[in-house]
Amino acid sequence: MKVAVFSTKQYDRKFLGAANAEHGHELIFYEAQLEPKTTSLATGCPVVCLFVNDDASVKTLEMLAAGGTRLIALRCTGYNNVDLDAVAALGMQVVRVANYSPYAVAEHAVGLVLMLNRKLYKAYNRVREDNFSLDGLMGFDIYGKTVGVIGTGQIGRCFAQIMKGFGCQLLGYDVQQNPACVELGMQYADLSDVLASSDIISLHCPLLPSTYHLINATTIQQMKPGVMVINTSRGGLVDTSAVIEGIKSGQIGFFGTDVYEEEETLFFQDLSDTVIQDDVFQLLQSFSNVVITAHQAFLTREAVSTIAKTTLESITEFEQDRPLTHAIALPEKIPANA
Ligand code: NAD
Repeated sequence: MKVAVFSTKQYDRKFLGAANAEHGHELIFYEAQLEPKTTSLATGCPVVCLFVNDDASVKTLEMLAAGGTRLIALRCTGYNNVDLDAVAALGMQVVRVANYSPYAVAEHAVGLVLMLNRKLYKAYNRVREDNFSLDGLMGFDIYGKTVGVIGTGQIGRCFAQIMKGFGCQLLGYDVQQNPACVELGMQYADLSDVLASSDIISLHCPLLPSTYHLINATTIQQMKPGVMVINTSRGGLVDTSAVIEGIKSGQIGFFGTDVYEEEETLFFQDLSDTVIQDDVFQLLQSFSNVVITAHQAFLTREAVSTIAKTTLESITEFEQDRPLTHAIALPEKIPANA
């Protein structure tokens, strides 16, 4: 089956190419992000394969449908970039890769915790410059601290398990309790209680209308002064301007993020020769208690290999008109004559 693969990097070509040996699809790799002006690249392709920042909004989907596309194959977990109403209305389907490696993302979140707490980014640069001073490098024992996990699904559970290994108390907030987290000793509480009691707060819920700007000026005020906030989920969960104010006032003591609400124009590209125009991003990264990585939490060999395998299996199921194991449930399609 002919598949237009958007936003491809070298590792996508390598892992999708290897996994495709078993499937024999015609994969056409594009570095370009999907957006209305790049939809023509997919003309005649029944399947498009997309990543986190590809734009699958109504306009794009209508143009794709007109060009013959019927399946959106997301090679990621989150699907906040896809307009599911439009997908349903156009008679298309969407598959994603849930649970490809919760360990990859959870371990990256823990990496941000350690990096911020022990100021490893400063220490690394200092020692390389023969500066062996310890001034300003003091951290805190993670042992005994309270960790608030917001979203206790696959990744939240793995993160909680690792933090339990450090000797932390676990607090959780979710719309649905996860028995595996309860088994770890996690206490579930209201969001405000989790925010008020946690020394470290880590976000692991999806970006939905109900979770957009979950971290905002009001919720930041409910947190412990000097709290550490980690976001490896989606940028839109956090009101970045409110976080900046929280950092300036000292209410937020550490901020580690792998995602950013306006990341589409920045991440996954080498912009080192250009002047970044996003003032909010520039201000955020100017703080010495902020660490930003560019949406790399998923990037382990195991995760990328599973993503490639599952994506191609879904495309083969679609080609063979079999039920789609990894389909995203769509809102009911409204008949045209209703
Ligand atoms: P999951 O579906 O297993 O868990 C998500 C949890 O969030 C569920 O328990 C769900 O009940 C909960 N939730 C839903 N709405 C909520 C709300 N309003 N408040 C609190 N909790 C709510 O998903 P997962 O595999 O653990 O992934 C979590 C998120 O991580 C994804 O949605 C994605 O955005 C993000 N992610 C990021 C990367 C990365 O590279 N940075 C990679 C993969 C996933």
